[in-house]
Amino acid sequence: MTIQKPRDIAIDRAASQLTITWADNHRSEYALRWLRANCPCATCREERRTAALETDFLKLASGPLPSTQIAGAELVGNYAIRLRWTDNHDTGIYTFVLLRASCPCPQCHPEGVVPLLPDE
Ligand SMILES: [Zn+2]
Ligand SMILES: [Zn+2]
Repeated sequence: MTIQKPRDIAIDRAASQLTITWADNHRSEYALRWLRANCPCATCREERRTAALETDFLKLASGPLPSTQIAGAELVGNYAIRLRWTDNHDTGIYTFVLLRASCPCPQCHPEGVVPLLPDE
């Protein structure tokens, strides 16, 4: 698998999406809601794991919803992007390898949107 680097990264707050144009000109459009729901940080992964174990999705749904508004973004080295949400959650580091692998476009995933990470 070739590791793709982004050529351009744009956050469209109005459309609530992050668009990455890759070096091979492929465009990936990620919904901010999806990015937040798939936050790869240890805390969020643990929360999702616990929720899955308890099969208590209602509990998650009834709690305060995490922010899906982006306050800022910064590159981490040349391999990832760190997103900061308006509720100050900023521990999620989204690697380009994973982002590209889970590109939600129908060309990459005709079967539908996949999670960023497999949650064990
Ligand atoms: Zn997180
Ligand atoms: Zn794609």
